[in-house]
Amino acid sequence: SRAGPRHRSARLADNLRMADRTDSTPSISCVMPAYNEAGNLGRFVPQVLAALKTLSPQVEVVIINDGSRDQTAAAAIELTRQHPEVVLLDLSRNFGKEAALTAGMEAARGEVVVLMDSDGQHPVELIGQMLARWRQGMDVVYAVRKTRDDQTRLHAKLAGVFYWLVNHNNRVKIPPNAGDFRLMDRAVVAAIKSLPERNRFMKGLYAWVGFNSTALEYEPLPRTDGQSSFGLRGAASLALTGLVAFSSVPLRTLALLGLLISLASLSYGLWVVISYFVYGIDVPGYATLAAGMMLLSGIQILSIGVLAEYIGRIYEEVKRRPTYLLKGRHGQGLPPAGPEA
Ligand code: UDP
Ligand code: MG
Repeated sequence: SRAGPRHRSARLADNLRMADRTDSTPSISCVMPAYNEAGNLGRFVPQVLAALKTLSPQVEVVIINDGSRDQTAAAAIELTRQHPEVVLLDLSRNFGKEAALTAGMEAARGEVVVLMDSDGQHPVELIGQMLARWRQGMDVVYAVRKTRDDQTRLHAKLAGVFYWLVNHNNRVKIPPNAGDFRLMDRAVVAAIKSLPERNRFMKGLYAWVGFNSTALEYEPLPRTDGQSSFGLRGAASLALTGLVAFSSVPLRTLALLGLLISLASLSYGLWVVISYFVYGIDVPGYATLAAGMMLLSGIQILSIGVLAEYIGRIYEEVKRRPTYLLKGRHGQGLPPAGPEA
């Protein structure tokens, strides 16, 4: 009796070239990177698993132990023993959150994949709302934090500057205040996995691949245990990676600066010549020489620094080292995708 309307809506979707998922119950993978989260995993992962099971009979939680120095691996292995849905990827050392997420996405087998922190800061209730949007045809549902109250004013301000810089004059726009917490269709995950770069600034990669995306607002919760790995310095270094990888604003700014200085020197030179020949003024040069020399060497060294930043990243890429290395894998998770996938 349900076949009738379902058939019709599938045809409608065909005509609209949009995915019809109104009645579908996809298998779900939840990817959770963990660095020193021994105090959180045992509490938070069962909550996530319970929430997932209310949404689909086929679920898995992929924990990535990113070279933790505490008992995270032991806690995760214990979870894989208690729950067949839990998988642990044990990285050989700390590769950073972006690499851990990449590892998780490569192992995830669900038709939809949710990325989530393992410290309890991301509310599990949001997963259901995200899935509802996926059913409406959205391929990516990303969570946007309502506030940055958990960060310092300076941090929040600098985040604003970063998003302005990276999105200024850029075809690919990175939505401000959206983090890694998101639900993605399998097609989007495949697209991100196909990007070969090693310096993986995930927020940029999500934006770069495109697809139908929508935002959901949420209020970040406090960490249940431990402390954040991203202080102002960590965030600044990630921001620099993002800028170099997704924007040529730094390079263009230098070119513009060079042009302006050249024009200024030209006018100044003309003025010196005119004042000598026409007005007969003998220009004393010591102060201007010293100031000009210092300004120009400063700008030159700065430019070399910016270039070096790009060259350093190029060097990282051409070495073609893997993004991460696995030390071990535990647990079952979802079965490999069938032939129709
Ligand atoms: N994380 C990771 N590798 C790292 C640092 C962090 O996998 O090198 C994980 C961490 O366990 C957490 C998530 O990334 O699940 C977010 O990290 P954190 O809570 O420290 O950052 P914040 O929430 O303050 O942005
Ligand atoms: Mg956190």
